[in-house]
Amino acid sequence: MDERAYAEVIVDLPVANTDKVFHYHVPPHLRPILQQGVRVQVPFGNKRLTGFVVGFSPRPAVSPTKDILSVVDKQPAFTPELYALARWLSQRCLCTLARALRTIAAPSHSGSARFADQVFPVDSPVDDQRLLEKAPKQAVAWRVSREFPGLTRSQLAAQAGVSLQVVNALIGKGVLTLSRHAVNRRPYAAIGDGIIPNEGLPVLTEEQITALDAITGGLESGERQVYLLHGVTGSGKTEVYIRSVVSTLSRGRQALVLVPEIALTGQMVERFRERFGDRIAVLHSRLGSGERYDEWRRIYNGKASVVLGARSAVFAPLPDVGLIIIDEEHEPSYKQEEDPKYHTRDVAFARATMQKAVVVLGTATPSLKTFARTIRGGAELLKLDHRIDNRPMPRVSLVDLRDEYRAGNRRVFSRYLAAKVNEKLAQKEQVILFLNRRGYSSVVLCRECGLVMRCPHCAISLTHHRDGLLRCHYCNHQSWLPGQCPTCRSTYLSTLGTGTQKVEEEVEQLFPRARVVRMDSDTVSRKNSHERILRTFSSGQADILIGTQMVAKGLDIPGVTLVGVINADTSLLLPDFRAAERTFQLITQVAGRAGRGDLTGEVVVQTYCPDHYSILTAKEHNYEQFFIREMGIRRKLQYPPFSSLARVIIRGSDENEVRESAQMFKRNLMPSSNDHVQIMGPAPAPVSRIKDQYRWHLVLKAPQARILRLLLRDALERFQRLSRKRVVVSIDIEPEYIN
Ligand code: ADP
Ligand code: ZN
Ligand code: ZN
Repeated sequence: MDERAYAEVIVDLPVANTDKVFHYHVPPHLRPILQQGVRVQVPFGNKRLTGFVVGFSPRPAVSPTKDILSVVDKQPAFTPELYALARWLSQRCLCTLARALRTIAAPSHSGSARFADQVFPVDSPVDDQRLLEKAPKQAVAWRVSREFPGLTRSQLAAQAGVSLQVVNALIGKGVLTLSRHAVNRRPYAAIGDGIIPNEGLPVLTEEQITALDAITGGLESGERQVYLLHGVTGSGKTEVYIRSVVSTLSRGRQALVLVPEIALTGQMVERFRERFGDRIAVLHSRLGSGERYDEWRRIYNGKASVVLGARSAVFAPLPDVGLIIIDEEHEPSYKQEEDPKYHTRDVAFARATMQKAVVVLGTATPSLKTFARTIRGGAELLKLDHRIDNRPMPRVSLVDLRDEYRAGNRRVFSRYLAAKVNEKLAQKEQVILFLNRRGYSSVVLCRECGLVMRCPHCAISLTHHRDGLLRCHYCNHQSWLPGQCPTCRSTYLSTLGTGTQKVEEEVEQLFPRARVVRMDSDTVSRKNSHERILRTFSSGQADILIGTQMVAKGLDIPGVTLVGVINADTSLLLPDFRAAERTFQLITQVAGRAGRGDLTGEVVVQTYCPDHYSILTAKEHNYEQFFIREMGIRRKLQYPPFSSLARVIIRGSDENEVRESAQMFKRNLMPSSNDHVQIMGPAPAPVSRIKDQYRWHLVLKAPQARILRLLLRDALERFQRLSRKRVVVSIDIEPEYIN
């Protein structure tokens, strides 16, 4: 009897709510090449679908069984360890196994990625105005192409919010042209080539040695160990990471280094490449599909022993992970906001348990959750209290924006900040200006009737951009700023709220001779553009860098002596119980960009709430004081980490069905009285419509996440059995944002 005569296949059904393994007959010629993790094509109804082989049996579990049609890729898309991790993930996040497998599996191969056609505007003068009147969509696409030359056709269409036909029409007219470029599939091969010579390793400080010794001890223990590396900005955490990786590799194991944002990987990759050369593989969502496929295979085939990447790199198919580093562990971007809604830190812990690996969480501003866990003994605290070379921490001054208003200053810049910028420019030093909001202004309002311009597809006001377009930051819908109010025909439309583009405009007015670069998701949408902006700034070709949270962390640019926080209240006044925590983290992190060279740094924070403890403790660089204050408040309100939250989001295109489903879901929640579960809602979600989908939610609170998982799994099962409505239910356990 052939043990491999029948295969168990998980079919990737996009709409499936429940897990089901399907059984297929394996034709004899496929038996030698079929193994667990291989992608196959199977007949399903009258369709042919892709699935993953997850097991074998000598006898059919059902009959009759159909034949597997073909093998998509002989190499498995996951290892047995990652299969176990996918099962854990589906339990943890209450998603189907098929969905979890899709998350961890190798990217599917697409051979066409080696070449991409890029779109460029033709230089001949085109009558913009005529195009605009006759074909406004084409005008938008053309403008976007001028701003971002070199996008592929589909990237351009997406960026401009138009269909592919619009782009094709412009190419047909000869207004845009296509050019075929070879795409480099080794993503960082060109970066850092010969820029920094390897001058030997720096001598570690006492604090660094102590931290490294502890981590090395963990590697020797052969057990899972967790360390919190709590080091002030500029204290040499990255150097500790590098040495820990060396230590791991010398034991014949591999290392995973996770960074929060792709904008930051550039600097980190450079530093790691200096030490580890070609042993590094880079994985993040901005890679082309061909690049990602190649990097994945290099890791799987043992050609790379250090993987650097963003969130999803936690699933890199390293055969024997000995060390997982999570840099800036407090960053909310470690939470995946789509299903499965996992937190990278949790996945790292699970993987480390399976592999008996060491986890290092590094940050200057630990999340409350991690610090509380450390105090309870769940992680060992390693501290770096001093900056390298005993450089002083930057001096932070607060500017009370109420005083500016009273003094008649309506500008974005307070008088003090403007004077400081002038002073630094005169001394040929560099300045970073931080504001966590992109665009020009966040609201366009009719002064006559009060109408706020909103996205037609989302319950969100449109952001005014400097190019004259109104954009939705949820779905990227674009339209022109109308000349008059669409409701009352008044021409008195005005804008409120400040974004990075307005800061840029004021910089141009106040400091006309300064060379300015801006970094936010409007300027870095093109591949490698963030590296280009950073290189311009770090090489001294720009004096001022304006940016959103992208510029707040990780940057190590010695020439920067002044950081201006344009408005600390953008995060502080959010209706979110983590608002104070995020504000403390943001100010501390962005302040940490100043004074990393020989000159002392200064930070100016503008705020309407200069007495708030999150701002005062950040000014004093006092994490412990902030932690004590914030924990007191969380305890009183029984918010995390003193409890766990979960969220059920129900969405669909029919508002009545969505509301009824939310009510029905609630009826299916059956907590026992000693679980101490609190159920809030159902209610419309804070953003009650996104991309034409209505959204309702329920928020649950319980002493432990485990209780919520059990309760929700039951309810979800009952709901899916009973409901016939066309809605999507999505569960978020321990949400980072409630929007
Ligand atoms: P962090 O990650 O804590 O912000 P970094 O690791 O970036 O700090 O270190 C800050 C700077 O100090 C970097 O330029 C780094 O190369 C340098 N550095 C780190 N450790 C040492 C050391 N032991 N001796 C000299 N320079 C060091
Ligand atoms: Zn009006
Ligand atoms: Zn929208």
